[in-house]
Amino acid sequence: MAKIIVVGSSSIDLVVTSSKRPGAGETVLGESFKTVPGGKGANQAVAAARLGADVTMIGRVGDDTFGESILNNFKKNHVSTRYVEPVTHMESGTAHIVLAEGDNSIVVVKAANNEVTPAYIDQSLDAFEGAGMVMIQQEIPVETVTHVSRVCKRLNIPLLLNPAPARALEDEVIQNAAYITPNEHEAEILFSGLPVSEALRKYPNKLFITEGSKGVRYFDGAKEVLVPSYQVEAVDTTGAGDTFNAAFAVALAEGKPVYESVRFANRAASLSVTKFGAQGGMPVREEVEAQM
Ligand code: ADP
Repeated sequence: MAKIIVVGSSSIDLVVTSSKRPGAGETVLGESFKTVPGGKGANQAVAAARLGADVTMIGRVGDDTFGESILNNFKKNHVSTRYVEPVTHMESGTAHIVLAEGDNSIVVVKAANNEVTPAYIDQSLDAFEGAGMVMIQQEIPVETVTHVSRVCKRLNIPLLLNPAPARALEDEVIQNAAYITPNEHEAEILFSGLPVSEALRKYPNKLFITEGSKGVRYFDGAKEVLVPSYQVEAVDTTGAGDTFNAAFAVALAEGKPVYESVRFANRAASLSVTKFGAQGGMPVREEVEAQM
């Protein structure tokens, strides 16, 4: 069983649907409301656990009822919360989502996720013992990403960096990471000015660009490879990237070769888009294997 550490964000998404998006100063009546667990860190942790990994989350929640919901959701999905410590007098991370007129508008409040600091990582170092892979994203402070990359280098644990949301990466972080997985849009921001195939060549077997329904592109040291995705009836692509990253990490941590790992991750991610919700569509191991 692969042991995976996820350092990242967790939040509660508050989703309303409305036929009309309110303008400034306007009040409209909505049609439905629901709360769902989210945050890229939490999504990836849950996805990896469903795929059979032994997952420990390193994160923070608030000391509010959302924090309790986030912790319960981790427990329900067999993610260890030993290193998810509530921050006193602080709210949990939330995303306020309005689905209206065929599009979404989102306000994210990071709150407790800002407390995933380098000092908190140092306090959680025991968690890294025996880990086969560390996963990180960018919904936590930038200095924490740098710090974790140094910890992984020192402890000789491969780091999978999902650079989402996109922000410029320090060269040191790129060097320290074993795998970097932007989508096309993020890759454009990260390697602006560099044509995609040049960026891929610069980081062989490290840079993996996800291209939605097309699949995933990387350079294997000799040639550029496109691992095609699977044709499915896409219902909701939220969380596709999170499922991809988790599945890729699980396969690599189990020692599968790179190409096989991407294939496995494409399969898992393609299954995730056939159901509603980020976590709602994340498949369990048996579902993925049955389709390989
Ligand atoms: P993100 O969700 O981060 O924007 P992508 O859209 O690139 O990232 O999707 C990540 C992965 O999810 C893809 O590489 C692919 O494996 C899978 N995927 C996404 N959309 C589809 C789709 N419509 N059909 C099949 N697979 C998909």
